Amino acid sequence: MRLAATEIKVNLSEIFTSIEGEGILFGTKTMFVRLAGCPLKCHWCDTTYALSFDSGTQYGLDEVKAMISTSLLPNTYKVNFTGGEPLVQHEAVIEIARFIQEKGIRTYIESACFDSSRFAKVLPYIDICKIEFKMKDSGAVDGRHYDNLVRNELECLEASIKAKKVTYIKVVVTNSTDPEEFAGLVARIFKTVQGSKLAGFIIQPSHNVDEPSLERLFSFYDAVYPFYPEVRIVPQMHKMIGAR
Ligand code: SF4
Repeated sequence: MRLAATEIKVNLSEIFTSIEGEGILFGTKTMFVRLAGCPLKCHWCDTTYALSFDSGTQYGLDEVKAMISTSLLPNTYKVNFTGGEPLVQHEAVIEIARFIQEKGIRTYIESACFDSSRFAKVLPYIDICKIEFKMKDSGAVDGRHYDNLVRNELECLEASIKAKKVTYIKVVVTNSTDPEEFAGLVARIFKTVQGSKLAGFIIQPSHNVDEPSLERLFSFYDAVYPFYPEVRIVPQMHKMIGAR
């Protein structure tokens, strides 16, 4: 059952505008809507302050819309739903994304895709999807739940492409990421979707935690290149200029 918009509460971590520092749209002026709460436990997570659902401040939907309207800067390229994990509050994302699209601004979700049915509900209101695949060494989930996580990620990827959204993949790698496991995941991804439908495949080296060597990065790059020659290794660039 879907909640009426007036009943929806938003546990909000923060709203701010910065320079997009990762992925295929790095360098764009972006408003970030960070929602509190994430059920995953990536050991290199850089937003641990937003992991607990209770870490945010609770607002009504209209209050959040008003905050967005007053803080939206001119020439904002897109509004990112981030977290935490935005699918935890998917009903709030739907309502806020609809509001942003009505303003003529692109909506963008960065999600670990732990729940493909929630993702399907949000998808009509999103223009750009960053599908994040987690490797086992991330510690996002324990071994028993890992296959289920990957299955949901693949379903989200497939749905996003089918809905003709701008869709790209991001995988964070560390020096402990197993190249064989990575190659296996890449094969599954390109069994599921055609490379020609993807807007990008970003391999993101971990930052300050178990950073991968150049040799290891090449092994990941080489696993993707035969399927998708536009693969890129892109670090989080906002950290280099001290931006959030
Ligand atoms: S899914 Fe994202 S927010 Fe959640 S623990 Fe992993 S990196 Fe952090």
